[in-house]
Amino acid sequence: MEIGILRRDGRTDPFFDGAAEDRLVIRRCEPCDHWYAPDQSGCPSCGGDELVWAQASGEATLVTWTVLHGRPAADGTVPPPAVLGLVELAEGPWLNARLDGVDAAALREGLALRASFVHPAEGEPYLLFRPV
Ligand SMILES: [Zn+2]
Repeated sequence: MEIGILRRDGRTDPFFDGAAEDRLVIRRCEPCDHWYAPDQSGCPSCGGDELVWAQASGEATLVTWTVLHGRPAADGTVPPPAVLGLVELAEGPWLNARLDGVDAAALREGLALRASFVHPAEGEPYLLFRPV
């Protein structure tokens, strides 16, 4: 399964600037110390709307996952399945991202993962998670 070419949209520039340097940058509400996914705009915890961008540890655990089986090519070869995970960052937010280097049959809830970035020749880097 191919991930399409990612383009930044202006709102998420700090996320992609971090990704370019292999840093996971997400949103954080400083007054109440809650962390959020990059697309969060306000803080549901305290009602604040001044979320800052902050670097997360990149450590996460697996919550759940989906295995996507590719369509066989004309010559009958079947691409390896892609695994999409829902992961819980150590800071609390949940993110959807592709899992890499995992055996789909051996996945389990709570598996320790670490954020990693792929830097395609074209488009923005994208986030995936690998087992620790
Ligand atoms: Zn808050």
